[in-house]
Amino acid sequence: MARTWQGAIIHHSASPASTTTMADIDRWHRERGWRGIGYHWGIYPTGQVERGRPDDQDGAHAGQPWNRTHLGIVLIGNFEHQPPTSEQYQALRDLLDRLEFGREKVKLHRGVSATSCPGRLFEFEQVWREAGVQPGPARIRVFVADQELNTQAVRVEGKIYLPIRDVGEALGARVHWERVGGEEIVRIEPGL
Ligand SMILES: [Zn+2]
Repeated sequence: MARTWQGAIIHHSASPASTTTMADIDRWHRERGWRGIGYHWGIYPTGQVERGRPDDQDGAHAGQPWNRTHLGIVLIGNFEHQPPTSEQYQALRDLLDRLEFGREKVKLHRGVSATSCPGRLFEFEQVWREAGVQPGPARIRVFVADQELNTQAVRVEGKIYLPIRDVGEALGARVHWERVGGEEIVRIEPGL
């Protein structure tokens, strides 16, 4: 039966990024007398994600009560010496999104235990930075009586603005503009 986890705790493997495997960690943890790898997920420098301990089991990574309440995620590498790769940060973010863990549900190991894990070069903010290309604003299409207007609309602070002449003329109105003294006057005469 699936368990409900309250969040996740992030670790580094504190071992060489280029050679360490999840199988290595599994072996190290068995040598400590544990029933296999204590983390539920691992993320390689390439961004490849690998499952560790099944997520219907308590972890063995942060002591109690955390092992019961929080999934353990290990990033392969030693972030005292070199930072995670951008692929690792991105894969971590993707995994957290998939698990539906927002930042309030994610802790670093050092936040719950007396340890430097996941290393001084791990930057929590990097996980939440929006990835690469920002999507532009959605294109706004305007229709008058099922006819798409050839116009340009913009959204500013929640309101959509569009050229009154384009809209008025599409509705059969005549639109006049004039400047009178310090004022600009727009007149819309409804069509017949
Ligand atoms: Zn740790």
